[in-house]
Amino acid sequence: MSSFVDIQYIKYPKELDRKCLSCGSSVGFLYPSGGHEYTDFCGKIKEIRRFYCCMNPDCELHAKPLNPSPLNVLPFKQFSLGIFKWIAQEAKLYKQKPAQICERIQDQFGVKISESTIRNYINDIDVYLSNQIDKRTIQLLKAQGKIILALDGQNPDNKGSALWLFVDLISNRVLKIVILESADHLTLYTLVEEILTFYEGELTGLVSDKQSSIVKMRDTYYPEVPHQYCHFHFLQNLWNHIEVKDGHLHKTLTKAVNNLYILTVSKTSKIFFEGIGKASIREVFREVELALRSLVKAGTKKFERLRGVKVYERLSLYVEEMEDVLAN
Ligand SMILES: [Zn+2]
Ligand SMILES: [Zn+2]
Repeated sequence: MSSFVDIQYIKYPKELDRKCLSCGSSVGFLYPSGGHEYTDFCGKIKEIRRFYCCMNPDCELHAKPLNPSPLNVLPFKQFSLGIFKWIAQEAKLYKQKPAQICERIQDQFGVKISESTIRNYINDIDVYLSNQIDKRTIQLLKAQGKIILALDGQNPDNKGSALWLFVDLISNRVLKIVILESADHLTLYTLVEEILTFYEGELTGLVSDKQSSIVKMRDTYYPEVPHQYCHFHFLQNLWNHIEVKDGHLHKTLTKAVNNLYILTVSKTSKIFFEGIGKASIREVFREVELALRSLVKAGTKKFERLRGVKVYERLSLYVEEMEDVLAN
């Protein structure tokens, strides 16, 4: 992880074409947020969220500063929603202790997060799982009277249970977290109804990816409710997931190369080489060492290039070449 801070501007969702989610009128830009700096799997990010409002004076979202893009980070948190969810899964689905999670997240992703922060996040999650919602959120939601509900229960690995998050995109508050064995449309509908009843809010909009159970729920039970299926954010989430795995691949390959005997043996260590005589092993393999060290250097570019895959391809080619040379 580098200390470089990537600035991300969160604009109005492309899919909505600058139209109000509720009434379809144009929205106008209001102001940007002050900026929220947080850490994600790939490093530090400063997120500036731009807020908009509906220009139609008769609309319930008129004069409400709003950006219905899915959240990348929860308000006031130091680590991304992705990391928050990863910790939740480790703790709740795989029953890992804070110390184990701390070690694994550092080892796998190079993310430094203290055991006490992990413990705090798990406490937060436990509070939601046991339905003890803080008074401030309840007050805020009841005063607001409407909810733009973002559903997020991606499970790219498809390994059984998944953690589901329900966030209101008007207040940016987490309304519910549950672990679901199966998330069919009826289960999701029951949860959405529970949320609406509990917070006494009207469902103004739905934001999610295009999972079939969510689409079926919306079409069956809320055909009148405006919805936004976020392809871009869905792809972004998938990419982030792949990028994390790819980072692990890159780390494994780099480690394997760095641990090679010809790169680690002492510079003064000499053996007899045919046609050369007694010579330093490192000196004889210097060219190979330089080649390998440069082969493992690669960068990742969003939606274009994965450094782990790149390095794997290069190393495979290099090994093939070497085998050819040795065979002749
Ligand atoms: Zn409107
Ligand atoms: Zn989107």
